[in-house]
Amino acid sequence: MSDVFADLVGQDEPVATLRQAAAAAARVVAGEQVAAGAMTHAWIFTGPPGSGRSVAARAFAAALECERDGVGCGECHGCHTTIGRTHADVRFVVPEGLSIGVNEMRALVLRAASAPSGGRWQVVVIEDADRLTEQAGNALLKAIEEPPPRTVFLLCTPSTHPDDISVTIRSRCRVVTLRQPPADAVAEVLARRDGVAPDVAAWAAAAAQGHVGRAKRLARDADARGRREAVLSVPRRLTGVGACFEAASALIKAAEAEAAEQLVETDAAERSALEQALGAGGTGRGAAGAMRGAAGQLKDLERRQKSRATRSKRDALDRALVDLAGFYRDVLITNLRAPVGVVHTDVAAQSEAAAGKWSPESALRRLEAVLACRQAIDENVKPEIAVEAMMLNLWRG
Ligand SMILES: [Zn+2]
Repeated sequence: MSDVFADLVGQDEPVATLRQAAAAAARVVAGEQVAAGAMTHAWIFTGPPGSGRSVAARAFAAALECERDGVGCGECHGCHTTIGRTHADVRFVVPEGLSIGVNEMRALVLRAASAPSGGRWQVVVIEDADRLTEQAGNALLKAIEEPPPRTVFLLCTPSTHPDDISVTIRSRCRVVTLRQPPADAVAEVLARRDGVAPDVAAWAAAAAQGHVGRAKRLARDADARGRREAVLSVPRRLTGVGACFEAASALIKAAEAEAAEQLVETDAAERSALEQALGAGGTGRGAAGAMRGAAGQLKDLERRQKSRATRSKRDALDRALVDLAGFYRDVLITNLRAPVGVVHTDVAAQSEAAAGKWSPESALRRLEAVLACRQAIDENVKPEIAVEAMMLNLWRG
C-alpha cells in the first residue's frame, strides 16, 4: 500500500500535483498527446529544512521511472532502483563542499542530454541547488532553456529567493512548495514507519520543530539527545562574561565534534579508495603517468574533504542554534500567554521560570540575538565571533 510518496509527511497538495505530472509523463512515454504544461522539464522543490525537499524530488523521480503508468508504485524495478539511487537514468548531485562547481555541472548537463537507457526519462536531481556557483547556474540554465525531449531537472532549494536560486532559473521552472509538517503528522509517521513508541514520537516531533529527519534522530539516537540537552542548558549557565565565553567555546567544540564524528569514516574510506585506485597501476605502462597525477588527485580530495567538513560543522552549529531559538521562543509565548504549544516540552519548567523573570521585550531580544547569530554565520562571519556576541546578548537580555 505504501507507494513512493508515502514518506512525504503532511504534504497532500504538492503530492497531488506530482502525481498528476507523473501520470502525464507516463502518457508522453506511451506516445500519447498531453495538454501543454501537463508535464514540465524543470522543477524547483522548496520548503523549510526537514520538510522533505529531497524526499519529494526523489519520489517524483521514481514516479517518472515507474513502469506502472507513472504511479510511483514503489514495487517495480524503476521505482526500486530510483529510491535506492542506482537507476541508470537518474543522477543525484549532492554537493560535498560549500558549492557546486561549473565543471561538475557541465559534465552533468552533457550526460543528461543522452537518450534515457530505460526508455523513459533522464532525471537529474540537484540537492541544495542554492549552492550552485554563478557559472554552474549559467551552465544549468542553458540546459533548462532548451531541454532535451526526455530530460527532467529537479532542483531542491530552501526558498525561491534570488539568494537561493537565480531569477532566470526560477522563471523556467515549475515550483513545488512544501510546508513545515505539523508535529502530529511527524509523530504519526515516526510511529508508523519507524516503530517509535507514540509518547517518544510526540516528544521528538515537537522538539524537532517539524524537521522529520531530526525528529527521527532524536527519537533514536542517544548522542543526539545528549547534544540537545547540552544546548538547552546554555540559558541557565550564562551567569557572567566569563561564563558566556565558556558557553560559546563549548557550543563550537560540540558542533566540531559532531561534524568530525559524522565524517571520519567517509573521509578515510574515500582516501583509501583513491590510494588503491592510484596504486593499482603497478609497474605497467601508464604507471608513471598515474604517479604524476596522484599528488594532484590526493590534494583535490583533501580540498573537497576540508570544504565538506566546514559545511558539516556549520550545519551542526545551526541545528544547535535552532534548538536554542526554540527555547527563547517558548519563553516569549509563555510570557505572552500565546495559545500555541511550546517546542521543548521537557524543559518547560525552565522556560516558565525564565518567563517569570524576563519581560516580553527582553525575551524577544534574546530570541533575536540567536537569529542574528544564524544570519551572521550565513553571511560568513567567523562562527566563534558570532556565537560569542550572541552569548553576551543572551546574558544581558
Ligand atoms: Zn513503480
